[in-house]
Amino acid sequence: MYRIHCPNCNHYNYSASRAGKWLCCYCGKDLANEKVETTTETNKDNKREKLA
Ligand SMILES: [Zn+2]
Repeated sequence: MYRIHCPNCNHYNYSASRAGKWLCCYCGKDLANEKVETTTETNKDNKREKLA
């Protein structure tokens, strides 16, 4: 999962794909120039449980 922080309304926007346009779903601001963050912590936990 990817997320972008909107500096206009201070909300996080989440998406499963990095591609495509990023428009804030709260205020509609174009977030193309904002940093994209990854949120993969939960996936690592799932792998660890299956191996154990
Ligand atoms: Zn916003």
